Amino acid sequence: MKKFVFLVFVLSLFFVLPAAAARSKHIVDYRIKARLDTEQKAVDGQQVLTWLNDSDVPVSELQFHLYLNAFKNNRSTFMIESGGESRNFKLDEQHWGYIDVKSVRILYGPDLTDDMEFIHPDDDNQEDRTVMRLLLPEPVQPQQKIMLEIEFFSKLPKVFARSGFHGDFFMVAQWFPKLGVFQDGEWNCHQYHSESEFFADFGVFEVEITVPREYIVGATGKRKDQTENDDGTVTYTHYQEDVHDFAWTASPNFIEVRKRFTLDEPKVNTEMIFLIQREHEILKDRYISSLSNGITFYSRNYGPYPFETITLVDPPLRAMGAGGMEYPTLFTAGGASFIPEGVRMTEMVTIHEFGHNFWYGMVASNEFEEPWLDEGFNSYSEVKAMSEYYGKDTSMVDVLGIKIGDFHSQRMNIIGSGRLDPILKKSWEFYSGGSYGVNSYAKASFVLLMLENYLGEQVMGRIMKTYFERWSFRHPKTQDFIDVAEEISGLDLDWFFDQFLKSPDKLDYAVTEVTSQEVKMPKGIFDEGEVLTGEEEVSEKKPQKTYKNRVTIVRKGEWIFPQDILINFEDGEQMRETWEGRERWIRFVYYKPVRLKSACVDPENKVVIDINYLNNSRLREPEKAPVTKYSLSLMLFFQKLLSLLAG
Ligand SMILES: [Zn+2]
Repeated sequence: MKKFVFLVFVLSLFFVLPAAAARSKHIVDYRIKARLDTEQKAVDGQQVLTWLNDSDVPVSELQFHLYLNAFKNNRSTFMIESGGESRNFKLDEQHWGYIDVKSVRILYGPDLTDDMEFIHPDDDNQEDRTVMRLLLPEPVQPQQKIMLEIEFFSKLPKVFARSGFHGDFFMVAQWFPKLGVFQDGEWNCHQYHSESEFFADFGVFEVEITVPREYIVGATGKRKDQTENDDGTVTYTHYQEDVHDFAWTASPNFIEVRKRFTLDEPKVNTEMIFLIQREHEILKDRYISSLSNGITFYSRNYGPYPFETITLVDPPLRAMGAGGMEYPTLFTAGGASFIPEGVRMTEMVTIHEFGHNFWYGMVASNEFEEPWLDEGFNSYSEVKAMSEYYGKDTSMVDVLGIKIGDFHSQRMNIIGSGRLDPILKKSWEFYSGGSYGVNSYAKASFVLLMLENYLGEQVMGRIMKTYFERWSFRHPKTQDFIDVAEEISGLDLDWFFDQFLKSPDKLDYAVTEVTSQEVKMPKGIFDEGEVLTGEEEVSEKKPQKTYKNRVTIVRKGEWIFPQDILINFEDGEQMRETWEGRERWIRFVYYKPVRLKSACVDPENKVVIDINYLNNSRLREPEKAPVTKYSLSLMLFFQKLLSLLAG
């Protein structure tokens, strides 16, 4: 009876919802009842799911992600790829996790439980159970909806990769049967990979979470109801529109802090909810100020944070595998009470994970296929925010005289990386986890910084704002961003993106020669009919000493980028040259009465993706030592001798 009332309520709500006011098109509608079993470390779930076929073709099957099955055994694609390890956290073989879909039926219609099967769209791994296909008795016609009722049981793994439990801490993420995205006439529903994040459609989530009374709960969306049950449990109801996922956490050890955040320009009004481990209470103020900084930075630079809540979850140290992860209107941070204030890991992770609510949460590109559109955009935003609030050279570490900026720590990653992959690649097809990481995060971030330095901060600011405004809630692809960048800048930028996103090469320009050679005093017959002996006094009539000054710049990498060159002479004169950077090298020669002092390519370090700054500048080298000439001629002599002997 209760269930029936629930369904009628769902139906009425669904048809009453004012679609016009929504930010996103509501393709999915999930109404889930979830009961946490703290002994079994599991969630019992019932889900009523409505899906709108927004395409123009009939759809005869549905595809679901069953992400938790990545943790079912050591033969899942995730486990084979990761070796049971994620960011140095290891699987505990005593605590596997899985999701069991117990039944599926069309609401008030036939039972489809026997029409489920596992598929493996990305690889041939027959043992992977992370994607399920459900065959429908009849197709869903364009612009029609289907409603399903699904019962499931989610056993949580001991957390090492984002989702799971540790003791009485629960991070319940990727935990329910979740539809893929139907686009371009087919389902986009990838398996759970070791190096991949997620992709889903926007819609409405209403989730009733039942936990023992002593547990404190945080979840996606706004809490709209709270009921004490007779069996010693409490049910919290959370509701959120315009999101594509739902995650929650529960633990008796949280301290809950709520603080209102408001901003006038642009208008933001949201409630910050902090769920902090008791032993991390000392981090409270750092969390509050860094989250406030994050909301301010992203709202000012991209668009106002629109949701009514934002929840920061601070996981226990031993469950840090759950940390540093984003979900709609909720994210997990990371911190330990022993980290000094001058080490800004906590601040960086807070700003980064909050920031995902813009790129992952609202723009919501396909993280399986184009991970840079999330992680790269977010790392770019993060490095700018960190510089703004904590100083460019001190934003990561500023303690005991040691200073490291977020910019420099991202740059270190790029310098050490190989040439194995371009940025634009499916996340699980990179050469390695390290290659996925460096390309999707730091290198992508630096490509955007390069673009900013090339176009100027103002133009770049307009590009980012326009892209965010135009494409939020619409799953843009890389070309959509390129189109915006070209439209706003008025430039053809294919040369830029083709290189930096699509080829795995590197950029390295170097000054290889700075020499100054004295030109002999004039001697011989000149056009003016004068015969000079070279012994004349230097006078107004006769030329002064002249030097042939040479600067050579070499393009050592494959990537091409216009270069500024700064040349210093000994008398303090400076000259600037520009070079399109296309040829393998270019040489500048100046006949002057003074010697060159030094030369520098990219003197302002605008070309941040240049992998070697050390060879960007050079002092004038002394005249060639005679020993070089001698050894050269000696070698030539032996070569000649050899050729004579061979003859
Ligand atoms: Zn991230």
